[in-house]
Amino acid sequence: MPKIKSVKCHPVSAPIERPFTSSRGWLYKTRGSCIVEIETNDGLVGWGECYGPALVAKSYIDTQFSSRLIGRDPFDVEVIWEDLYNRMKDYGSSGMVISAMSGIDIALWDIIGKESRKPIHKLIGGCFRSEVQCYATGLYFIDMDRLVEEAVEEACGYADEGFPAIKMKIGLGDIRFDIRRVEAVRKSIPDNIRLMVDANHCYSVAQAIRIGRELEQLNIEWFEEPISPEDLDGYTEVSRTLDIAIAGGENEFTRWGFRDIVARKAMDIIQPDVCAAGGISECRKIAALALAHGVECVPHAWGSVIGLAATLHFLAALPDQPPSFKPMPPLLEFEQCENPFRDLLSREPITHRSGLVQIPTGDGLGIEIDRHILERFRVS
Ligand code: CA
Repeated sequence: MPKIKSVKCHPVSAPIERPFTSSRGWLYKTRGSCIVEIETNDGLVGWGECYGPALVAKSYIDTQFSSRLIGRDPFDVEVIWEDLYNRMKDYGSSGMVISAMSGIDIALWDIIGKESRKPIHKLIGGCFRSEVQCYATGLYFIDMDRLVEEAVEEACGYADEGFPAIKMKIGLGDIRFDIRRVEAVRKSIPDNIRLMVDANHCYSVAQAIRIGRELEQLNIEWFEEPISPEDLDGYTEVSRTLDIAIAGGENEFTRWGFRDIVARKAMDIIQPDVCAAGGISECRKIAALALAHGVECVPHAWGSVIGLAATLHFLAALPDQPPSFKPMPPLLEFEQCENPFRDLLSREPITHRSGLVQIPTGDGLGIEIDRHILERFRVS
């Protein structure tokens, strides 16, 4: 029986050349992550990733979790999940503590795959699809004097690359300006390219309904995070009032957090992040809950190649929603902002070809980590 020998965190951060912002207002000047490395006594190494502030995740793992993992069988992945959750829930049952657990869960699945000589998706239900369509996330706010022009240029670039779908940021403090910018992008790309908008929860309920009615005229696929994530009654109101699909949930955690969203049908699409919401084990449960309530699950992804690979395995094993003759399979969020950990951390980067990404077929996550990148961008 393999046993966990060590648990190590690698907090990393890299400066980026062209800082960008969203409706949340702060400037992204760096990209970073807490990368988790778990080693077994038979020498296998599993990799995971935690979403959010890297040193906070590291602190949970170093001070609360790693000693509980040593000596345990990595195949007891859900037993371990429950143990870690129950150890900490009296002090908070969502947020960074679950993000830290997510990194551990992904690393354990990587080990289970390597021990079993199978890709993770073959161990969590199987392969509904060997490749997924992806959408480009981008169109942030960079040059405040050219917000419309830069959005159009970036969108046309993604269209030329063959992306079948694009997600743009909105929330410029002026609904007329937001609509003008969305309209310019919609007109500049072919009609068959799906366009989504993401407000990063900057509107009130009334503002969201007002702008949502205009977005409905512009052939927008979904309206992401129109309002603040705490206001589930507000989400229900926005979702029921508008015809456009409402998406959200990248800042929600665990089956219990998502239960409250889907049971109230507060959103049409939930977007759990495998590196935040509780890992692959928990996101499987969240997806099952969503499907049982007729809510679509399209995961959020904003991380390194580790999070991206974990998301791909999760997507491979996600049933069609709903099954049909020609189903509309779930999309991979493939963010296109500068991120060396997405592009350089594995020896072979995950790429798309004409908007299609292959599900990794190697053992575990199916990626090989380049330790030089961890060393080069190490925070402490
Ligand atoms: Ca988002």
